[in-house]
Amino acid sequence: MSANLITIMGSLWAFCFNNSIPCQITSIKDHVKIRKTATHSSGRAFDLRVKNLTEEQIKKVVAYLNKNFNHLGAISKSDNVRRVVVRHIGTFDHLHVQTYN
Ligand SMILES: [Zn+2]
Repeated sequence: MSANLITIMGSLWAFCFNNSIPCQITSIKDHVKIRKTATHSSGRAFDLRVKNLTEEQIKKVVAYLNKNFNHLGAISKSDNVRRVVVRHIGTFDHLHVQTYN
């Protein structure tokens, strides 16, 4: 797993702990058959479960990640924009946290 991702994970865990936000990592390596990017398989992404979070808590987590770690985010192939966190509302609602290396 990438050093940047470990840094983000540790900081996020502390942030969630200090704000009484449940922090449950659901995936690090690939577990879904079809992935748009290789960030999981190359150890540059983890998923955070948001099912048990309020919308306000989700916003807090996203704002925290964007404010502190967006410079470490991966660049999306679709639009060339750097993002450290993306919300996926699909088969399971989660925040996908990704780094460029
Ligand atoms: Zn993901």
